[in-house]
Amino acid sequence: MAETGRSDLVVVGAGAAGLYAALTAANAGASVTLISATALAESASYWAQGGLAVSLAADDSPSLHLEDTITAGRGAGRASAARVLCAEANMVLRDLTELGVAWDRDRHGRPALGLEGGHSKRRIVHAGGAATGRRITRALSAKAAESPLITVREDTRVDSLLSDGDHCRGIHISTGESVHARAVIFATGGAAAMWKRTSNPRGTIGRGLVVAHAAGAALADLEMVQFHPTALAMGGDRDGMLVTEAIRGEGAVLVDADGQRFVDELAPRDVVALAIHERLQDTGAESVALDMRSVDPRLFPNVFKSLLECGIDPATELVPVAPAAHYVMGGIQTDLNGQSTLPGLFAVGETACTGLHGANRLASNSLTECFVFGRRAALASLEAMPGRSGPVTVVDCPGPVLPSDATREALWANAGLLRNREGLESLLGDEHPLARLVALSALTREETRGAHRRSDFPDTRADLAGFHSSLLEGQTPAIVRWDPSESDPASISAPQLS
Ligand SMILES: Cc1cc2nc3c(=O)[nH]c(=O)nc-3n(C[C@H](O)[C@H](O)[C@H](O)COP(=O)(O)OP(=O)(O)OC[C@H]3O[C@@H](n4cnc5c(N)ncnc54)[C@H](O)[C@@H]3O)c2cc1C
Repeated sequence: MAETGRSDLVVVGAGAAGLYAALTAANAGASVTLISATALAESASYWAQGGLAVSLAADDSPSLHLEDTITAGRGAGRASAARVLCAEANMVLRDLTELGVAWDRDRHGRPALGLEGGHSKRRIVHAGGAATGRRITRALSAKAAESPLITVREDTRVDSLLSDGDHCRGIHISTGESVHARAVIFATGGAAAMWKRTSNPRGTIGRGLVVAHAAGAALADLEMVQFHPTALAMGGDRDGMLVTEAIRGEGAVLVDADGQRFVDELAPRDVVALAIHERLQDTGAESVALDMRSVDPRLFPNVFKSLLECGIDPATELVPVAPAAHYVMGGIQTDLNGQSTLPGLFAVGETACTGLHGANRLASNSLTECFVFGRRAALASLEAMPGRSGPVTVVDCPGPVLPSDATREALWANAGLLRNREGLESLLGDEHPLARLVALSALTREETRGAHRRSDFPDTRADLAGFHSSLLEGQTPAIVRWDPSESDPASISAPQLS
């Protein structure tokens, strides 16, 4: 096995979570290899529009933020993780400011706060209007590039992990080389581009989930996929382009073909997305309209500019929108320090599942999560001291890497806003490993909860509150309750799959 290098830490992924984890570890004196399949500024993080949720306003507090997060999670959120997020958000915001992120400010010089669905207070901190992700990733990439302790490898894909049988010992990359390390942090992002209609960049295909699962890390809640209500619906390259929720916070309304409003635009995402989906099913239309004519274009210069480039003038015209796969709440199961069930492997950001989002992510909690848990995992990973090591081998990982059009269509049709057993079972024969894993998870949860709707199990079951689906290589999929100490999930039922 060719060894290209050895670092204290390998961080895989250079979105918000990976960049911040790498910088935190380097700041603590560790040598870091930062690996990204795409160029530093081409992650989902780069495209984030609204901002990050932080309780800053005089009438706000971490406990109100916590309440909103738990409410949005629909009884499946892990309170301890949500508590950490809300309590540490202010600290990482200060750190990001010191790292050079220039937030939009109000006339008093304080960060300007936006409002998004499901938030009871204004608490969305943003930069450059709706260019928050771009501003943050640019600032952090510049710092990473200039750090003498961080070695950056762009356009390099991690295809498998190195293992000594018990511990993750490094990574294996597509060129055939290996990098050995004391610990590996996966910050490989979500998987929403596995679905045909998506707001995500095409590379967001959850490869990290497949690699981690093959190496023996548990995955949790993969059935929990959030569909953003307002993605541009006009076909072509720009189909799925996100029109940020913050625009509805500033007064934009949704209307159907008859010009009638049909939903509270600031209800949580699952409620708004399902209301649109049902309206489309009832009318046979392909989109509803977002009326943003009352919104001040100066608040969202990038959104207005992008829509104008698509031939729509939102100052005078209605914008056609429909739901699109946006965010996967599930992922590599971790504790509150990002430690997965595989020693030596940590996960942070969208690829991780701390349980924080439950069955429905509260808008703008994901960037905050990237920073809060990215920092925690970086610090915890440096304390991970592997024991005696046996021979290190590359763990095989199933392909294909890229989803075919057929897989993306099948996921949209059978694991979309509305699902049933028959459709999900059809995915078990899909060629793509992640499509099969999503179906296995979804089949274990025989209820409707949050972003997840089962037409054959329309009710939310009180006895499944606090339960998480769990997939471990070689074991029967299970639905498990994470116990009160929340570090040792206890399996109490494992429904049979027919
Ligand atoms: C259009 C859009 C708008 C959004 N707006 C907001 C918002 O306003 N607020 C908010 O909180 N959230 C928002 N989100 C969600 C949020 O942006 C993401 O959840 C978050 O940025 C994920 O960050 P990440 O660092 O976990 O992953 P990403 O930013 O997706 O980065 C993943 C990285 O991993 C790399 N990678 C993946 N697989 C491999 C591999 N096998 N080998 C090597 N590298 C690999 C990729 O190249 C990339 O560098 C938005 C998402 C989208 C798509």
